[in-house]
Amino acid sequence: MIEPIKIRGLKQNNLKNISLDIPKNKIVVFTGVSGSGKSSIVFDTIAAESQRQMNETYSAWIRGRLPKYEKPNVEWIDNLNPSVIIDQSRLGGNARSTVGTISDMYSLLRLLFSRIGTPYVGPSSYFSFNNPNGMCPACAGIGKIMDLDMKNLINENHTYDEGIFNLPAFGVGNYYWKVYRRPEYFRINVPWKDLSQEEKNILLYGSKIKDGKRLDKKLEGVYNQFKRLVLMKGPQEQSDHTLKKIAKYLYECQCPECKGKRLNQTTLSCKINGYTIHDMCEMEFSRLREELDKIKDERAKSIIDQLKASLNRMIDIGLPYLFMNRESSTLSGGEAQRLKLVRYMGSSLCGMIYIFDEPSTGMHPRDVYRMVQLLKNLRDKGNTVLVVEHDKDIIRIADEVIDIGPLAGKNGGQILFQGSYENLRISGTKTGNALSSEIKIKENVRQPKGFLPIRNANIHNLKNVDVDIPLGVMLVVTGVAGSGKSSLIREVFAKQYADQVVLIDQSAVSATGRSTVCTFLGFFDEIRNVFASQMGAPKSLFTFNGKGACPHCKGRGMITTELVFMEPVTTVCEYCNGTRYSEESLKHTVHGKTIVDVLNMSVEEAYPFFSDNKKISGMLEALIEVGLSYISLGQPLSTFSGGERQRVKLAQNIKKKGNIYILDEPTTGLHPADIEKVVDILEGFVQRGNTVIVIEHNTDVMKLADFIIDIGPDGGTKGGEVVFTGTPKEMIESGKTITAEYLRK
Ligand code: ADP
Ligand code: ADP
Ligand code: ZN
Ligand code: ZN
Repeated sequence: MIEPIKIRGLKQNNLKNISLDIPKNKIVVFTGVSGSGKSSIVFDTIAAESQRQMNETYSAWIRGRLPKYEKPNVEWIDNLNPSVIIDQSRLGGNARSTVGTISDMYSLLRLLFSRIGTPYVGPSSYFSFNNPNGMCPACAGIGKIMDLDMKNLINENHTYDEGIFNLPAFGVGNYYWKVYRRPEYFRINVPWKDLSQEEKNILLYGSKIKDGKRLDKKLEGVYNQFKRLVLMKGPQEQSDHTLKKIAKYLYECQCPECKGKRLNQTTLSCKINGYTIHDMCEMEFSRLREELDKIKDERAKSIIDQLKASLNRMIDIGLPYLFMNRESSTLSGGEAQRLKLVRYMGSSLCGMIYIFDEPSTGMHPRDVYRMVQLLKNLRDKGNTVLVVEHDKDIIRIADEVIDIGPLAGKNGGQILFQGSYENLRISGTKTGNALSSEIKIKENVRQPKGFLPIRNANIHNLKNVDVDIPLGVMLVVTGVAGSGKSSLIREVFAKQYADQVVLIDQSAVSATGRSTVCTFLGFFDEIRNVFASQMGAPKSLFTFNGKGACPHCKGRGMITTELVFMEPVTTVCEYCNGTRYSEESLKHTVHGKTIVDVLNMSVEEAYPFFSDNKKISGMLEALIEVGLSYISLGQPLSTFSGGERQRVKLAQNIKKKGNIYILDEPTTGLHPADIEKVVDILEGFVQRGNTVIVIEHNTDVMKLADFIIDIGPDGGTKGGEVVFTGTPKEMIESGKTITAEYLRK
């Protein structure tokens, strides 16, 4: 028998001095309400310690370039393996990074074209849009260029002498203004809008051309001149200041040379079975696999086998609708996670710990079984698979479930159960109960108060979609991954009705690392008022950005020491112990608590403390209502999970009326027992006169909708249509779609 991973005396974050053994070469799923301590075990302890020890094996030079991992608060850990974290962080935002490049499939395709493409073009570097040999010279392989936005550039009502062009160099009296002031070619006292087309052309594009020569060599045209002056230099040579100034006269458009294909004409002349490498990169994976099957050339067999193995993994994991040219920055968190997983599936390493954060995110129940299959494959290759997950279909296949609880934060941090799924169901824990109970379908649905039409929607895969969005109800928009839900709701509907729509997604809520729930929701100011008025002290004494700042660390809580030849060292400030506040400000207390004590309180603890202050208690109530009672007031928003961020945004909007709220998978990160709670919150929004649109795969949420719109029938080009509209009851009784099938189960 293989010795388990042994953890003793673990007190990381909220964990209550726990000890546990985690079996190896098994799929182990961690469950429990959010904030109970799952990530504290899996990410902050196991992954962090494993990565930290791995990093110690490298030279100092490399170590300095690796991310730093804190030593977890634990007595000891034994039998740890190297670990790989497969999370949902988005993939790089660079325009040169595509699904093809990051999955390595593009390099295989390049190799294929360099071997058997005709006419023969050459080494595979000629097929790379990131290599000077292959890239389109006009756009340097980006497929897009910046062009001048003539509408913004021209004052229609001005004459030349009043100044037509909004460019400093062409301003009245300036150098280029003088060069172009040519009354012999156009009327300088007539407004632009009244000039003839010929006059306009001369000004913009240069003097008349006779026998291929300009009549006047100096006049290459304002448009050409400006392009040469500004665009050709390339952005890196411009100062930030100039870039900002010219940005409003520029717009991004498809490169006219390569038509967005990124490659040069020589490369694009090379074909296999009539297709260029660009054509193949535009094909959805399922279609590309069919085309590869038609290639019979023996020289290419091993490359094609490798490519097909990668394509099969993509298709197996529920991404058959992706294509190599899709820019990786446009992928959703769930899609990015699955792509990372595919990269590891090709690996022959074994004896690793693979760690997943809610792999079911963004997956329709139809596709979850595929994810399950891949997790099993990883295990069967001799790896340990640790998963934090709420989805029943994934918990069900666990070899072992570890349930953390009973509640969140200080009220959690204990192991409630460890064992099989079947035993968990009868264990009596909150998770066990939720897994063995059924949510009933909503019978008394609301009638829509009106509709907003979408007509001829065609973006991405949408096929001329006409649909009416019902108002004053809870609408669930569903469909398999890649069917077009986000395209329809976020790209088309939300943009068309932008002034009525509030998007409540999981993206970061604030740009600065210092924000907390109380600064974001605006009640920190009121907390400082309470301190100031009770103590008769200035309000600024209670902010670490102002007078209240610890003078040693200037309110940063950390001291960074710059060292010659080495990475700077950051240590907790020993004067304020990282609290950021000055001694002076901590002399003041309200009901015996300092401002730091208050920031350390959870929402739940702070609520009775501030019960006589309506402004503060109102916001705290909202936070409790959205299930964030365990968050501490001073916890930086940057440490919140996506689901928690989404709930903060809900709390922010909880008092508003007459809006249309769009939520993308609000059940992400939620314990099954809390799903009904969130639906209750959303019901409250509808009762107050709002419309709630939820993009969701969770069948429990569908059951609780007033109205369902199902997009399909499948993903990518096989999707993009509205395949069902109606109530949940109608869907169960007569729906013929994939979603209906799973709702009935
Ligand atoms: P789960 O993964 O079950 O949702 P976590 O392990 O993320 O729960 O959190 C458990 C508790 O520890 C929560 O109260 C959370 O606010 C707290 N916590 C998490 N990360 C940190 C951190 N970096 N610093 C302080 N507290 C944290
Ligand atoms: P869903 O939200 O149902 O998962 P999406 O609306 O994200 O589906 O995707 C529908 C189709 O549109 C897919 O084929 C997807 O590849 C394509 N698509 C989505 N976003 C983009 C994009 N930014 N660029 C190109 N294609 C996209
Ligand atoms: Zn180009
Ligand atoms: Zn300090």
